[in-house]
Amino acid sequence: MNTARLHQQYLLCSGADTDTRKIRKDSMFFALKGANFDGNTFAAQALLEGARYVVVDDKRFALDKEEYIYVDNVLDTLQKLARYHRDYLNIPILAITGSNGKTTTKELLDTVLSRKFKTAATKGNLNNHIGVPLTLLSMDNQTEFGIVEMGANHPLEIEFLCKIANPDYGYITNFGKAHLEGFGSLQGVIKAKTELYSYLQEKKKMIFLNVDDEIQRKHLNYSHTFGFGEREDANIQVKYTKGVSLAQVFYNQTVFKSQLTGQYNSTNMAAALSIGLYFKVEFEEIRKAMDSYNPTNNRSQVIEHNSNTIIMDAYNANPTSMHAALENFRNIKTEKKKIAILGDMFELGSAAPAEHQVIVNYIENSDFNETYLLGDNFKITETGSNFIFKFNTIEDLKLHLKESRHENCYFLIKGSRGMALERVLESITEES
Ligand code: ATP
Ligand code: MG
Repeated sequence: MNTARLHQQYLLCSGADTDTRKIRKDSMFFALKGANFDGNTFAAQALLEGARYVVVDDKRFALDKEEYIYVDNVLDTLQKLARYHRDYLNIPILAITGSNGKTTTKELLDTVLSRKFKTAATKGNLNNHIGVPLTLLSMDNQTEFGIVEMGANHPLEIEFLCKIANPDYGYITNFGKAHLEGFGSLQGVIKAKTELYSYLQEKKKMIFLNVDDEIQRKHLNYSHTFGFGEREDANIQVKYTKGVSLAQVFYNQTVFKSQLTGQYNSTNMAAALSIGLYFKVEFEEIRKAMDSYNPTNNRSQVIEHNSNTIIMDAYNANPTSMHAALENFRNIKTEKKKIAILGDMFELGSAAPAEHQVIVNYIENSDFNETYLLGDNFKITETGSNFIFKFNTIEDLKLHLKESRHENCYFLIKGSRGMALERVLESITEES
């Protein structure tokens, strides 16, 4: 398939779709294959739902009609089309990767930059080899600035995504113990994430660096960098306020507030602030943007319910973000009873037992009044504490929460996505 010609057809469409349950009128449907489905079998349905074209790679489903576009490989075609579209758009694109905080930083930055530019950013968490192409294809002639989240759990994925998105700017949030299964070690994580730096350096493009992060600092000698942080060599020097329940950043005699809980979010804020200043968004506009950003999707949310306060951070967890969340919880000064509700961290491979034990040891030395643990990995940890309780199923945990009718408590809820720990919320907030 000739990509230029396909792109002509794409320009007649309203966008790219991959799910027949969410077809937009006049879109181009890409018949992707997954472990349990084959998009080709939905092609006719997509047309019925309103798609203008369907891109298929199985002859049996490729009818001899104008709306059917037959290709060798749909995924490959989607990626090539996205690359082509990216060049056609000719706009600045900023890529964000890292172990934790990509989506939060992306959303904060989008809120900030949209005060000056017509931005388009990754929707939700569409950050992989399918999500990045879809993100690029969601940009159009009106878009002035693109923000692309890039996720990876294996080496060379970021390099691959960079070749599709061809970013002009990049930021790595942090290097942590996430996806150890695919990366092997923290060194492996660093090597994989910094594929973004290598790409930008080679193209003489700009890298944003958190100068307080020892690993990021090492890249200050790259040709185009712009640093932020508390250290004096930062281009944008900020101060972080510690021990507050909602993250804030101090810059140029001004406090930048947010609705985000967790000290770690102040770094995400500082990144958005600095990048915003770099692109000359007005200072006051940045302040307003940060203040108005409300986290969703169970990330770093604070929920007040009757006498209870709940930090809902059940969106995801890995050792680094779990540690950051526990440290933040420990630093909160409150008269309330502190209860941590934690679920297993996934994708740790052989490091799983040790990493879960580290968390339990940390809790034993904390001021938490009680901790409730759920999951197969936490189950096999060792503890002599009378304040750590293990539950076999989510139902057991919910029942306990319901029956204990907690009042005046400060909860932290955190676990991997697969644990879906947000399910316990109703047991805390349910009125009897
Ligand atoms: P994913 O890999 O799922 O795309 P992500 O990198 O996009 O994750 P977010 O969704 O923004 O990250 O945040 C997930 C969780 O990571 C947050 O709820 C918080 O607990 C933690 N987190 C956010 N920012 C940081 C940070 N800078 N350092 C450590 N942990 C963080
Ligand atoms: Mg994300």
